[in-house]
Amino acid sequence: MAPKLSINLIDGFRPAVVIASGSDRPGVSAALFRVLAAHGGQLLDIEQSIFRGHLSLAALVGCPPHTIGRLRDDLVETLATYDCTVEIEFDDQAVPSRPYSSHAVVVLGNPVTAEHISQIGQVLADYGTNIDTYRGISDYPVTGVELKVSVRDPRPGGGIALRKALAELSTRIGVDIAIERAGLARRSKRLICFDCDSTLIRGEVIEMLAAHAGREQEVAEVTARAMRGEIDFEESLRERVATLRGLDSAVIDDVAKNIVLTPGARTTIRTLKRMGYRTAVVSGGFIQVIQPMIDDLDIDFVRANTLEIVDDKLTGNVVGDIVGRKAKARYLKEFAAASGLAMYQTVAVGDGANDIDMLSAAGLGIAFNAKKVLQEVADASVNFPFLDEVLSILGIDRDDIDAASDDKATTDEGTTDKASDDEEITPQEAKS
Ligand SMILES: [Mg+2]
Repeated sequence: MAPKLSINLIDGFRPAVVIASGSDRPGVSAALFRVLAAHGGQLLDIEQSIFRGHLSLAALVGCPPHTIGRLRDDLVETLATYDCTVEIEFDDQAVPSRPYSSHAVVVLGNPVTAEHISQIGQVLADYGTNIDTYRGISDYPVTGVELKVSVRDPRPGGGIALRKALAELSTRIGVDIAIERAGLARRSKRLICFDCDSTLIRGEVIEMLAAHAGREQEVAEVTARAMRGEIDFEESLRERVATLRGLDSAVIDDVAKNIVLTPGARTTIRTLKRMGYRTAVVSGGFIQVIQPMIDDLDIDFVRANTLEIVDDKLTGNVVGDIVGRKAKARYLKEFAAASGLAMYQTVAVGDGANDIDMLSAAGLGIAFNAKKVLQEVADASVNFPFLDEVLSILGIDRDDIDAASDDKATTDEGTTDKASDDEEITPQEAKS
């Protein structure tokens, strides 16, 4: 007895897999289905892809038994006129359903070599993980590939050993490899929260301010220790702000004007806003310095420290509670609640030890060129200096990013969208 397919194969019909391939041109599928129709065929499943002008069409069809002899010849003859080859295999064991990919793996590198893909494929195979699909998602500023995979044990926690092995491989070969659960949870992200200093912008604002007091070096050393998690962030911030005592408040505007966005930052925010994301910035830096940039990028939510100013001079104090490690996570939760979102719908991006709680609380925590302590708790790590890699991790491909950019150009008439002003580092530089 033939095995029963779970799909609705018409009684008495036989399942067959038809695969057509050749140059992409109009009319191929119309011709193929004209032949199948003439034989009374039934469509059960279909998938087509066009890759660099090459067409590949696969269909699972049901065929009335008396047509089987002629169908193959008719398909071959008809599709030959379209320079397409066709194979047909009658298969009573035809797999009735597609694989349900449990995870998405995103690979980002410059370059991505065949050796890298080979090693990633081997690690997946070692853990009994099948690759269901590949998709190129980025060719600029780095090469990005998304794999949909099925892990051997798709239950929660079933991918932990694989995740660890991929993280080790990523460090060893210098290519970013992120693995996330596929499905609705991945596609339902709606709020993204960025750390500011060394994430959304280059460098640390406190050091730029301290430079005006002639104490940049000293402050930079304390910042580096705080970001590595070696000293308490809040205490160290008070210490660093104290070095600013007596500075003219005009330095704030001066520093604000000299802020440089991380390459890809503007593109990233614009694309996510176009997709309907709420955007947020939570910073251990200072609201007076970053507010103009927040307004310029049209960020929805912002929290940062407030420098105390008396008689146009910085007092060396911060007003109120400091936005530290715990507060960053608390604000992310507030923004989610205010947007009517669950935490699994949130993404957090940061680089320092003070981002640990925020990245842990988020549905997806992305470490951006981060300190080791943060990478250890993050779901994904980006180690090239382009913020738009975050978009690739979210599965957003380059075509969508470019489309968001074109939309902007056509709908915001009169404003110049300086997409290029945050693209200061070339892919070649990123390799070093
Ligand atoms: Mg930071």
